[in-house]
Amino acid sequence: MLLKSIELSGFKSFAKKSTLEFSSPISAIVGPNGSGKSNVAEAFRFVLGEQSIKSLRGKKGEDLIFNGAGDSARANRASAKLVFDNTKKFLNIDFPEVAIERVVHRDGVNEYLINGSAVRLKDVIELLASAHIGSSGHHIISQGEADRILNSNMRERRAMLEDALGLKIYQYKRAESERKLEKTVENIASVESLRREIAPHLRFLKKQVEKMEKAVELKNTLVTLAKHYLKREDIYVKANRKNIEGKIAPLEKKKKELEGELAQARKVLEDSKDKDAKREEVIELERKIQGARSERDSLIQELGRIQGQIDSEERILKKQKEIVASAAGKTVLLVDVESFASNIKEKVSAILAQGEVSIIKKIAEEIRQIFSDFIKSHREKADDKVIKESEEALAELGAKRKEIDGKLALAKGREESLQKEYQKIQSAIEKEKDTSRDAEKSLFRIMSEENTVVIELAQEKEKLNTLALVEADFNREREECAMLGGREVLDYASLVLEEGLEERSIQDERRRELQKIKIRLEDSGLGGSDETMKEYQETSERDTFLARELEDLTKSAESLRELIAELGEKLDIEFKEGINKINEEFQKYFALMFGGGTAGLKVVREKVKIKSDTDLEMDEEMLEGSAETLEESLADKEGIEIEVNLPRKKIKGLMMLSGGERALTSIALLFAMSQVNPPPFIILDETDAALDEANSRKYGDMIENLAKQSQLILITHNRETMSRAGIIYGVTMGGGGVSKVLSIQFEEAVSVAK
Ligand code: ATP
Repeated sequence: MLLKSIELSGFKSFAKKSTLEFSSPISAIVGPNGSGKSNVAEAFRFVLGEQSIKSLRGKKGEDLIFNGAGDSARANRASAKLVFDNTKKFLNIDFPEVAIERVVHRDGVNEYLINGSAVRLKDVIELLASAHIGSSGHHIISQGEADRILNSNMRERRAMLEDALGLKIYQYKRAESERKLEKTVENIASVESLRREIAPHLRFLKKQVEKMEKAVELKNTLVTLAKHYLKREDIYVKANRKNIEGKIAPLEKKKKELEGELAQARKVLEDSKDKDAKREEVIELERKIQGARSERDSLIQELGRIQGQIDSEERILKKQKEIVASAAGKTVLLVDVESFASNIKEKVSAILAQGEVSIIKKIAEEIRQIFSDFIKSHREKADDKVIKESEEALAELGAKRKEIDGKLALAKGREESLQKEYQKIQSAIEKEKDTSRDAEKSLFRIMSEENTVVIELAQEKEKLNTLALVEADFNREREECAMLGGREVLDYASLVLEEGLEERSIQDERRRELQKIKIRLEDSGLGGSDETMKEYQETSERDTFLARELEDLTKSAESLRELIAELGEKLDIEFKEGINKINEEFQKYFALMFGGGTAGLKVVREKVKIKSDTDLEMDEEMLEGSAETLEESLADKEGIEIEVNLPRKKIKGLMMLSGGERALTSIALLFAMSQVNPPPFIILDETDAALDEANSRKYGDMIENLAKQSQLILITHNRETMSRAGIIYGVTMGGGGVSKVLSIQFEEAVSVAK
């Protein structure tokens, strides 16, 4: 058995924990009126998630809690717990036994538990829906509600049928998909709005970036052109400078030379002013020459005079020499004779004193010698003196002449040199005259030449000045270009251009072009480009991200729509197929119940917009706000009409059926519904109340038939029905107002039921 038991605790009249085990396909609950049997059925609906307290015969949740009776104090909570055998995994949960419990507290708070763990209502509903245990209660028929399906409107009927056909799960899925779709659509809208929001900024940034890209392009053009221009200018300036400087250097040299020459010429001219001085010098020289001449003359005279003396002296000497040669008449000085005589006397005395002949002889010899010497000496002596005197005079005169000769030579030399000097000065004066004439001539030539050189030099220097301006411009241009184009511009030096100077106009044209680009570049405001670029990138990435998200969302919306359509289609198809199957069974059961006749469900298009009522409240909550969507989707769609045709009676339409007939019809329909898609269990609360004995039997047969597929829990007073049950629970309520449950035998049950 799938349904193992139900346990009630504090639920309505079940003050104490009461457990009913369902170990038989058919269980019956019997008991006197008001003992609490229907409370058991309600406990089922309660656990399964019934949200309408009204349908549980209460006004609020508190009404479901045992309110105290007799000696028993009221409870604080009401709980009911269903236990399923899940060994065959009919519930989509990995437990062999599943206990689903719901608790309500006095404050109205509900708790849902699956195997003791707190879960959401939604989880319970989903779990049960997957096992075809719906909360719409098509398998729990409350007391007096057997013909509910007949009484309900077309849409409610459809809902009950869908539930019975196990299509609720599709509806949930569809509703969930719709909810997701709605959220997706919202997300799409918000993403779109975000994209719309950033779009103008992105457009603006894009334009900026485009501008910047253009500016970068422009900058590159500038760099290329600037490098070319600067290189050319560099070449131009350097070449010109070299050229001009090459001209200036020799000009300067020339100028210097000319200046030298000029100075020279001037000096020459200046020197010509010394002529007078020279003339004075000439006069002085002339005077000196005159002096020299007269000195020479007097020296010559002196020399003549001396020569005369010499001549006379020589004559004397000659004469003397001649006298000497004659030797007569010589005189001897008395002194000499006296000295001679003394000598002789001395010698004679000696002889006289001397006896020695030899000595006398010797002395005699000596006297002879004295004599000889005396004569000899006086002969010579007398001549030599004169001669000597003459010779001495001559020597003196000779020396004098020699001296005068020397002086004369000197005087001549001086005169000569003075003469030479005089000549020199004279010729110098002459020469000077020529030189100053030449100098004057050169002066004009030099001055004119210098003038030319100075003009040329000035021109070259002017050129240099102009070049300096060009160079200054070049430097300024270089700085400006480097500022706008970056340091790269300064690499112009490495640029290789063909040699040679080009037409200046080409460079001028280049410069004009450069100027234009610079202005455009300045206008483009390249500054802060990195930040803008970064912002553009970020914004564009964000936009791309949003676009991708939008794409994803659109895709998922699309697939959700597809899923919704698919589910709708599936629902539609399965619903129609289900209706056909139900109709088959309905027809069978109906004919069985009524011994003939026809009955069928008809799908009709319902035009009226349906308003939600209490029954719908549950749906609303279950679908978490999507009931409206569901309602909208169901509204204006198909509803279900029930067509009956009783045998032998011309009755058509439900309105004309008797109470019993209505009960039979609804039982037939309920059974048909249960037959097509059997729920795990069905609870029928006095569905058989209105049946007569014959119909009770038929009912009993049908129940047995039904029990083959679904577990049945029957609340009944009907003996026939009780007889079909495998387990019978008796519910009693003593004087204490508290329901008690006990398993009883058929006979007991019959008596209890009575
Ligand atoms: P019948 O055979 O007449 O249909 P029943 O056996 O189905 O009767 P129920 O309708 O299940 O009887 O039980 C109703 C009883 O439950 C009433 O006596 C009522 O007083 C009692 N009851 C309902 N709610 C509570 C509550 N909150 N606290 C205590 N008792 C309650």
